[in-house]
Parts: sequence; structure tokens; C-alpha cells
Amino acid sequence: MNIDEYSDVYKMKYSQFCKYLQHKYSPPQKAYFNDKFDTITSYQRKAVSYRKMSWEYDIRKIKCPCGNGFISQESRSDDWGRTENYVPTIECPECSQKYKIETEQHFCYKWDGDGISYYITPKDYPEYAGITEDAQFPSATLNVLDFAEWFTERYTKAQLQSSLAEFQENKSSSKVSLGLSKELVKEHKLKYRNAKVSEIIPHLQEIIDGYDSYFGNFEQRKPIRDEEMRERKIYTDEKRKHQIGLQELYNYTDKVD
Ligand SMILES: [Zn+2]
Repeated sequence: MNIDEYSDVYKMKYSQFCKYLQHKYSPPQKAYFNDKFDTITSYQRKAVSYRKMSWEYDIRKIKCPCGNGFISQESRSDDWGRTENYVPTIECPECSQKYKIETEQHFCYKWDGDGISYYITPKDYPEYAGITEDAQFPSATLNVLDFAEWFTERYTKAQLQSSLAEFQENKSSSKVSLGLSKELVKEHKLKYRNAKVSEIIPHLQEIIDGYDSYFGNFEQRKPIRDEEMRERKIYTDEKRKHQIGLQELYNYTDKVD
């Protein structure tokens, strides 16, 4: 949730707010909210008080690698302890020639921080040059309305065939139980405005018939993707040895003058 959203949240009724959270958050986050309904109301209280809130700015500094300057990071926090950190900067002519700041995002609950790690990396450190899925295949579609492409790029032919068999045994699309079948019903409704088994079957049959000749189907992508992950991990593990983590900026307590 970004800052502007808080004022929108403020205007919502409780029921709207619950729907908003359902829509907005990933399954583990939703589970968290389901467990803690009192948190929702307290979030709303906070959203209300947000309007009157002011931000306080702070700059943290640590010594740079050469020792003649600083790495600094600005942050701001509000009255109820939320903090937002900005990307650190290298305030040293010598080190800013040699190093760059790199940002890495990893999954993390909002209330546990922003999930971002910063590193300083030698500017001449080589970029990842291993295998990539993107270089081998056209970018995978991100639009579910590309109905056939979406399912071809995300499932094996065998999975699609099992789903087809399930549709052939069921007269109603509400009776299917496979995860893929349910997804097909949902997306078919979105794309074709109906969830009739009699229409899903020919569409699914078309996807299966075109599967082998589709360049970049799931079965082709999978081994390349796995290899890319393996090679990127090796690359990153090695790179870490040449980087300096800036985690201590967060643990910083003494001001450097
Ligand atoms: Zn320096």
C-alpha cells in the first residue's frame, strides 16, 4: 500500500475495505488478514489518522570502502512507526568512480520492512551472461486474454489433456475439480463471456492441437528456465564475494559527522 492509498482507504466502509484487501494482497497476505481482523480495523484507524500525519526525515551514514567519505541513506518515518527508505547514495568522489549501488527485491511482508537489500558492486564487475529464457523464446504473454498462448506457456500437454478429459466427463463447468480446469473456466468466462463446457472443449482442443508447433510452449521453456535459475544462483553467489552489503545502514545507531 503506498501513501496515497491511505487516504482512499479512509473513505471506505468496513466491508469495502475487506474486499479491497482480498483483491489487493497475495494469498499468504490474505491469510494473515483473515487471522487478524482486528488488524484491519486498526489499519483503518491508522488510515484515518494518516491525514493528520507528518513525515520525519532522517539520514543515516556509514563509512565508504576507502574510508574518506560516506554511504548515506535517507529515510522517512511517520507517527506510527512506518519507515520508507530511499536508495542509498555514495558520497565519495573516489568510491563513486569505482562502485555502483545495486538494489535487490525479495518477498517480505510489508509490516516486516520493505524487502529490499542494497549492495555496492564494483562498476567493472561483469553482468550475468549465462543462458536466459528470454533470449531463447519470445517473451511469455502476461495477458490472460491471449487465451491459447497463456495456457500453452504455463502447462504441460499432459496437464491440458487431463483437463480436457475432465471437461468431457462433466456437463457443467462448476463440477470440475482440477486446478487447471477451474482456471480455464474462470479465464474462459473473462475472454468469451461464458463458461459453457460445450465451448470450452473446442477451445481447449485447439490449444492441445497447436501445442507441439507453438514455439515457446511450457515444456520447451521449463528446462531453459531451470537452467537459468541454476546459473543465476552460481553467478550471484560468486558476485556476493565482491559486493559489500549495506545492511548495516539499517542497524546504524551512531551518527557519523
Ligand atoms: Zn570512499
